[in-house]
Amino acid sequence: MDKQTLKRLCGEAIDRNRDAIFALADDIYRHPEMGFHEFRSTEKMKEAFESLGLTVEADIAYTGCSAKAGQEGGPVVAVMGELDSLNCPDHPDCDANGNMHSCGHHAQLAALYGCALGLVQSGVLPSLDGAVKFVAIPAEEYVDTDYRTGLIKEGKLHYYGGKQEYLYQGGMDDVDMVLQAHLINPPKQGAVCCLDTDCDGFIGKSVRFIGRASHAGFAPSEGINALNMAQLALSGIHALRETFRDEDKIRVSTIITRCGEMVNTVPAEADMEIMVRGATIDAMLDASKKVDRALKAGALAIGGKVEIQNRIGYLPLHSSRELTAVYRENVEEYLGCDDSAFITQYVSAGSTDLGDLSHLVPCMHIWTGGISGALHASSFRVVDPEAAYILPAKMLAMTVIDLLFDNASRAKSVMDAFHPVFTKDSYLAFLQEHSKLDFFDSAAL
Ligand SMILES: [Zn+2]
Ligand SMILES: [Zn+2]
Repeated sequence: MDKQTLKRLCGEAIDRNRDAIFALADDIYRHPEMGFHEFRSTEKMKEAFESLGLTVEADIAYTGCSAKAGQEGGPVVAVMGELDSLNCPDHPDCDANGNMHSCGHHAQLAALYGCALGLVQSGVLPSLDGAVKFVAIPAEEYVDTDYRTGLIKEGKLHYYGGKQEYLYQGGMDDVDMVLQAHLINPPKQGAVCCLDTDCDGFIGKSVRFIGRASHAGFAPSEGINALNMAQLALSGIHALRETFRDEDKIRVSTIITRCGEMVNTVPAEADMEIMVRGATIDAMLDASKKVDRALKAGALAIGGKVEIQNRIGYLPLHSSRELTAVYRENVEEYLGCDDSAFITQYVSAGSTDLGDLSHLVPCMHIWTGGISGALHASSFRVVDPEAAYILPAKMLAMTVIDLLFDNASRAKSVMDAFHPVFTKDSYLAFLQEHSKLDFFDSAAL
């Protein structure tokens, strides 16, 4: 069969099953689960894959599941859909706990199911020279860190991001490239999708200033005020902002999470959470070092101590231009659209753990429409289910066909054009090297 026939059969299979795809989207939407809590959503995806006759591997990264289909021996294309919701208690559709799919990950799962259904039920896979791995992946949102720290301490989890954990667990060992499409309200009227995506990476810091308590009225001179350390550190961070280069897209976000218990006592401890974002690994590390300096300067000025628990959050994403080009061709062909349908480059200071994978294999991250309002906000609505669920299902499936058709020549050229920054081992070593506890005691000077 020629490639156009394979794509037509695949599209028809998706169209025949659009009710099942909508039903899955609706089911996941109505049962949102936060990262590494996605037990029900994992089960639903497992059932969906099994309904296609696929063998499913479950709990691939604490939660999550995957299923592989196609021919052995050729390239393996992973299609990923993220499982986790957010907490968005002011959204009218949130559940009793305030959980809500306001990042639209339920749509990714519908598109993933639709893509699998199209490729499997159409019978096109035997005509392709490679395999496809359908992955329902947990915990993209970097939230709820106390819960994840607890799982790590119990030895049930090793990393804070689902894709990081999946990579660690060996899920990426047989994967040559990753395709993903994420909802967005395109920032241009009439645009179908945003194509080449670059995102910041970030380093997370849990900070504790340690001083000494004393009576705030009659003995403040005997205290070491941790709040004052934090305040000076924040001033230091603000003073550093002029040193951040525009092209590095540095963002330093800070909150004080705990500081003192009673106003008549000099605060002995102050806790902060900090995110340092940057467009490159070097930029992230450089800004992180400067922030650490400001934190230590705060402790030094007041004569206290500071503990800085650094964690590499997610790495910057530089999506594969070669993979994006294949997806774009399919949208152009299928919708008959021109340049105006696309935002060709989307640069964001947001972060995703797909960035980590993009340092090892080519990764595609398409932003696709179908919603109104904003991601992560109470205004988020799916207004066009066809655009949100069915179109990405078809475009992902047809991209797989292009990649794996004709001795997988297109997939092989994508792989040839890619230069990995890390191997799995060097990536894990990098995370470890930059995820250390730094302790500074001004008394030691
Ligand atoms: Zn999100
Ligand atoms: Zn998201």
